[in-house]
Amino acid sequence: MSEPLLTVRGLKVVFDGFHAIDGLDLTVERNEIRFLIGPNGAGKTTLVDAITGLVKPAAGSIVFEGNELVRRREHQIVRSGVGRTFQTPTVFEQLSVLENVDVAASFRLALPKLLRARRGTTPEVTAALEAVGLDALADAPAGTLSHGQRQWLEVAMVLCQGPRLLLLDEPVAGMTGEERTRTGELVQRIAGEGTTVLVIEHDMDFVRRFATRVTVMHEGRILTEGTVSEVQQDETVREVYLGR
Ligand code: ADP
Repeated sequence: MSEPLLTVRGLKVVFDGFHAIDGLDLTVERNEIRFLIGPNGAGKTTLVDAITGLVKPAAGSIVFEGNELVRRREHQIVRSGVGRTFQTPTVFEQLSVLENVDVAASFRLALPKLLRARRGTTPEVTAALEAVGLDALADAPAGTLSHGQRQWLEVAMVLCQGPRLLLLDEPVAGMTGEERTRTGELVQRIAGEGTTVLVIEHDMDFVRRFATRVTVMHEGRILTEGTVSEVQQDETVREVYLGR
């Protein structure tokens, strides 16, 4: 078998003596759509924060495509091929949809290359807008988008940076049923084109429809992992997560 895309070993993240991540091991294979579920406070966002360099682990390693990410800075982690979205989309409201993606695309370039970059839209930007279905709204100010469309814009802003691992934090929160379906189909297309996707999600209906594998977190560790039906039949998961 080929080397996993992401290998986390013995990860610990401590906030003022509280172990939010407490010796966590996780392996993600290429081209998975992996869902990360678990009760509030389980440490899901903190894990994503640690992978993307937003919080510094107290111990452990995070190896992506053979490279250690711990101690790398956030922008270095983005350039090594890891992208993420946040629970609350962060877009530039005054700029157009297209300009938002343009700005995000330029973050990826090292300064000398950025200074040399020609003005104008790159194929990556156009492809990202088409992928999320916002190409027809390219000139609209981002501030006029609906909540769901903002979430998709944020995905486009990450996609244009060419990630091999995309981390989505509750991508369907606040979306309508139809928007959820479109988001799930988008995630499937992204994975089909070679980007592995790790999704934090609470909506079990969405998880059932779109996960290839599910990891359950509890108290800063992995409780269990498997297919959706394996995880749902797990007694410990029922007790701890579903409360029955
Ligand atoms: P989840 O995403 O699974 O809901 P989080 O990763 O947000 O869980 O949080 C895990 C635990 O770490 C929670 O108890 C939370 O209160 C705590 N925590 C998260 N971030 C911080 C922080 N910056 N400072 C202190 N405690 C934090």
